[in-house]
Amino acid sequence: MRAAVLQDIRDIRVLDIPEPKPLAEDELIIRVKAVGVCGSDLHSYLEGGTTGPTQVRPFVLGHEFSGVLTPDSARKAGFSADALVAVDPSIPCGRCEWCHRGHTNLCPNVKFLGYAPHNGAMAEFVCVPRSAVHLVPDSIDPAGGGDPGDAWRRDPCDGSGAPAASGKRGRARLRAGGIAARATGAACR
Ligand SMILES: [Zn+2]
Ligand SMILES: [Zn+2]
Repeated sequence: MRAAVLQDIRDIRVLDIPEPKPLAEDELIIRVKAVGVCGSDLHSYLEGGTTGPTQVRPFVLGHEFSGVLTPDSARKAGFSADALVAVDPSIPCGRCEWCHRGHTNLCPNVKFLGYAPHNGAMAEFVCVPRSAVHLVPDSIDPAGGGDPGDAWRRDPCDGSGAPAASGKRGRARLRAGGIAARATGAACR
């Protein structure tokens, strides 16, 4: 599949990489329709990470996204094939003490999609657990053909609908990203 890989600081390349495969029974494959650009993506691009200059090990950016399930995954999850979904990019381990207590936000083994070393959604497909998938209301469109520059200028984390957004498609994309961000409580910078 094609993916936008952060190769190094200020160096993103569209490359062919292997498609993700479900490794567990509850994992689903999403065909990505739209991806917002978060402030943390910007930090990764400019500095390699969000904690200051960091050496980049190549990975795929993007954690605020919407998409549809592949036919096999839709059947497995009991979703219609064209249902738009948003994804919580913060994946807790489900095995540690904090996860067992229900405090998955404190999981020390959390895997955050689109943050090194975990590949994110600036790719054709992403593999996620069923628990991370949230249906998006019909009133929101996937904004698949949106202008990336539009998302770049407006923070999808604020979920406000971006007052100056240029048209329905741009606003819808940002809202889909906002649903995922709010579902996770992700600390976007
Ligand atoms: Zn855990
Ligand atoms: Zn974010």
